[in-house]
Amino acid sequence: MVSRPKLSGHRVVARVTLDVAVRQEFDYLVPPELESSVHEGTRVKVPFGQRQVMGVVTKVLDESPHGNLREIIKTVGGQALVTPPILRLVRWIADYYCCAPEVAMKAVLPDAVRKEADGWRERLFVRALPVHGELPKLTKRQTDLWNIVDEWRELPLQELVRLAGTTSATIRKLEDKGLVSIAPQISERDPYGKEHILPTQPLELNADQTAALKSVVSAMEALAKPNGQETKFGGDSVFLLHGVTGSGKTEVYLQAIEHALERGRGAIVLVPEISLTPQTVERFKARFSHGPQQTLVAVLHSHLSTGERHDEWHKIRQGRARIVIGARSAVFAPVEPLGLVVVDEEHEHSYKQEEAPRYNARDLAVVRGQQEGAAVVLGSATPSMESYHNVQRKKYGLLSLPERVDNIRMPLVRVIDMRSEARREKGISIFSPQLREAILQRLEKNEQVMLFLNRRGWSSSLQCPECGYVAECPNCSVSLTYHRAAQQLKCHICGHVETAPTKCPEGGCGNATIRFAGLGTEKVEAALAKGFPTARVKRMDSDTLKRKEDYRRILGDFRTGKIDILVGTQMIAKGLHFPNVTLVGIIHADLSLHIPDFRAGERTFQLLTQVAGRAGRGDVEGEVYVQSFTPFHPSIQYARRHDYSGFYEQEIEFRRELRYPPVNRVALLTLRGRSEDRVKFFADHLRKEMDELARELGDTVVAGPAPAPLLRAESFYRYQVMIRTPNMAVLSRKLAAKREALQTPDDVRLVIDIDPMTMS
Ligand code: ADP
Ligand code: ZN
Repeated sequence: MVSRPKLSGHRVVARVTLDVAVRQEFDYLVPPELESSVHEGTRVKVPFGQRQVMGVVTKVLDESPHGNLREIIKTVGGQALVTPPILRLVRWIADYYCCAPEVAMKAVLPDAVRKEADGWRERLFVRALPVHGELPKLTKRQTDLWNIVDEWRELPLQELVRLAGTTSATIRKLEDKGLVSIAPQISERDPYGKEHILPTQPLELNADQTAALKSVVSAMEALAKPNGQETKFGGDSVFLLHGVTGSGKTEVYLQAIEHALERGRGAIVLVPEISLTPQTVERFKARFSHGPQQTLVAVLHSHLSTGERHDEWHKIRQGRARIVIGARSAVFAPVEPLGLVVVDEEHEHSYKQEEAPRYNARDLAVVRGQQEGAAVVLGSATPSMESYHNVQRKKYGLLSLPERVDNIRMPLVRVIDMRSEARREKGISIFSPQLREAILQRLEKNEQVMLFLNRRGWSSSLQCPECGYVAECPNCSVSLTYHRAAQQLKCHICGHVETAPTKCPEGGCGNATIRFAGLGTEKVEAALAKGFPTARVKRMDSDTLKRKEDYRRILGDFRTGKIDILVGTQMIAKGLHFPNVTLVGIIHADLSLHIPDFRAGERTFQLLTQVAGRAGRGDVEGEVYVQSFTPFHPSIQYARRHDYSGFYEQEIEFRRELRYPPVNRVALLTLRGRSEDRVKFFADHLRKEMDELARELGDTVVAGPAPAPLLRAESFYRYQVMIRTPNMAVLSRKLAAKREALQTPDDVRLVIDIDPMTMS
C-alpha cells in the first residue's frame, strides 16, 4: 500500500459502521501503529460507550467534524474484509432499500467471517525433514513411524497417530532426533472434499446456444476494453436467457464463465437454495477442475458449517476460488475482478430476503454487474414479469433457447374441469377418472408418477357442521390445518400446535361429527395407498423431511426406482430431473390463484410450467394432468400451451391498468403491534405523511391503510400502506429523509419493504 503523507501531529480518522443498531456511523482516531493496516473495508474493534464492539471502516479521512474522538483498539484479519466494490454495494443497499448502514453491512459478511478470531482451523502437522547422511538409530516402532512420514512427506498429527497406531509422544521422539518437524498449520475444511469428480469438456453447442454465448462474450469483451466502465450499460451487458427446462442454459453459463476466466475475471452463479444440489455443484467443479482455466469453485449455502463457510469465503477473498456458486447471499462474494454474474431461475422468490435488509439478490446482481463492469445473465424458463418487461424496454438483451436439447418434445398438458367432475361425482374426488386411469397406465408400464399439491397436512380446516365452529389459530387470523398422523391441529404461520378434538370443542355444542374441509398432501398420500394398493408411494413435504439427509434420501430412492409415486408440495416442483417420470398430476391448480397478491396469476403460471417441466425428461414423452375448478383461467391456459409471451401480454395489461409492477414499483409499509387500535391510529398518520410525499413526487399512488391479507400473525396486528411509483430511487431517498416523522411509538413497529415479493 502507498503510505499516506503525514503532517506532524495530524491524526488519521476512520469512519466506522458498527455492528450495533445505532443507525449511524462513528469516527475514530487511527493509532499511528495501525495506520498502515486500516483501510476502507478493514474490520476493526472499537470502544463504544462502556463496551467494545466490532465494525467496518467505510472511509479513511484526514479530519472529522466531531471532537473528542476515541481510538481504534485493533484491526481484525490480514486483509480488508469488505472490498471497495462491496462497500459501494452496501451504500447502494442502504439508500435503495431504505435501511441503516449497519443493517446493509450485516448482509455482506457471513457471520463466520465477522468473528473477531480469524476462524481458520489450525492443526498440528508432521513434516519429514531432509535427512543428511545416515539415519540416526531408531527403535522398531520409530522406524515404522518414520517410514510412514517419509512416504507422506506431510500429514496432520492426528492422522499419523491413527495410521501408525502410535502416540504423539513417540512422534515427538522423531522430532527430537531432527527427522520431522511438528508445527501448527491451517487445514481447510472442504464441504465437497470427499467427492471424486470426473472432469468434463465443453459440449458442442447448438445454434441457439451458440448465439446466446456469442452475445454474452461480446458484452464481456466490450466491458473489458479501456473505458469499458463508462460505456452505456443495461441493454449491452444484462441478458435475460429465456430457455425452456432442459434447453441447455447451464451449458451456456459454463462456457460463458470459461470466457470470463480467460479474460482474467471471475464469476458468480446464483441458484435458488433448493436447486443447489450436489449435482449442480458437481457440474461446475467438474468443468473447472482441470485445464488452462482451472480454479477452485467455492460454494456458499445455508447448510455449510460455520467453519466450512469461513474457509469457502476466504478461498474467494484470496482469489484462489474464482468461481462462486451459491444461494442468495453469494451475490456478495468478494470475487475480484468480476466478469460475469449468472442468476439461474431468476424469477424465484427465494432471491428476496424476507428480513432486513430486504434485498433481492437478482436485482443486486444487476447493480453489481453495472458497478463492476461485469456481464449479467438472468436465466429462466418462466421469466419474471420484471425481467421480461426490461427486455421489452430494451434495458436487457433477450437470448432464447426455445427448444429442449435433442428436441425432446414438451409434455402434453391436459386440463381437467373439476366443476363437471364434482357435479358428476356428487362431491369432490381427489383424482378425476382421467388422472386415475393415467396413473394406472403408467404404473403398469413401470414408469414413475409425480403428484403435486401445494398444501401440506390432511385438511386445511376443521369445522363443526352443527354450530359453525372453525378451529382457528389463537395467534394468527388463519384456520388451523389438521394433521392426521400426528392427530394435531397446526398453524402454518406461527407453528402453534394443539391436539385435534374428536368432537366440537365449542361450549354447549359438543357435536360428535367434525367436518374436515380442504385437501392436503397427507390426505392425497392416504388416497393413493387406498386407490393404488400395490404402488410404492412416498410423500415429500416439510412434515416428512425431519432431518437434513431426508431430502437427498427420498430423491435418491425415487431416482433409483424404489418409489413409484412421489407426492409433495412445491418442494418437488423445482429443477429436479428424473428421466423415468412420464406423468405429472397437479391435484388442485387453483390454490395459488386465490392468494391475495397481485402476482397470484404469475405465480400460478410459473408453478404449472415448472411442474409440467418435470414430465418426460427421458426417452418417453411425458404428459401432465392439471385439475382445476377454473380451467379457463389465463394462467392455466397459457401454461397448458407453453405460451410464455401470450401469458406476458395479457398479464402486463392487467398490471398496467392497476399500476402494479413491473410498470411501477411498490413500497410496502407494514405496521405491526399487539394493539389493533394503536396500529390503526399510527397507520392513519403514516397515510397522511405518505400523501404529502406522493404530492412531492408526482405520478405516485398511495393506498391504505388496510388490514394486511393476514391481519393477525404471531399475535401481532398488521396494517399496510402501499405506495406505487415509477421512481423508487427518489421515493427511497424521501422516505429516508422522513425517518424522524415516521418514528413509531415503542409498541408499534414499521417495516419498509421495497419491491416486496409477497403481500401477506
Ligand atoms: P437447462 O439448464 O436449460 O435445464 P441443461 O444445461 O441442464 O439445461 O441441459 C440439459 C441436458 O442437456 C444436460 O444433460 C446437458 O448436459 C445436455 N446438453 C446441454 N447442451 C448440450 C449440447 N449442446 N449438446 C448435447 N447435450 C447438451
Ligand atoms: Zn398461528
